[in-house]
Amino acid sequence: MVHFTCDLCGKDLTSSGERRYVVKIEAFPGFDPTEIKEDDLDDDPMEAVAQILKRDETLVSEFEAEAPKGFRFDLCPSCREKFLRDPLGRDAVRSFDFSKN
Ligand SMILES: [Zn+2]
Repeated sequence: MVHFTCDLCGKDLTSSGERRYVVKIEAFPGFDPTEIKEDDLDDDPMEAVAQILKRDETLVSEFEAEAPKGFRFDLCPSCREKFLRDPLGRDAVRSFDFSKN
């Protein structure tokens, strides 16, 4: 039997029978595939289109080489609530200096 615990608070989700939530976070480089640079417009239009397509292929393969930076977490219902309220943990970062718990 697969055993699940909450990745945040460590609660045993298998024996407690609590609902398990899966959170997936991915971080990958952002780019705009349709971005046209000024250089692209100097040339013959068909040539420019070909170049853009070629450049996008390069970007996409760079993108795929870097991806995925993915994370997967199992959360209990209350940690899911906390996560949804503050997905990036900004409150935790802000209150870090003052944390007394
Ligand atoms: Zn939890």
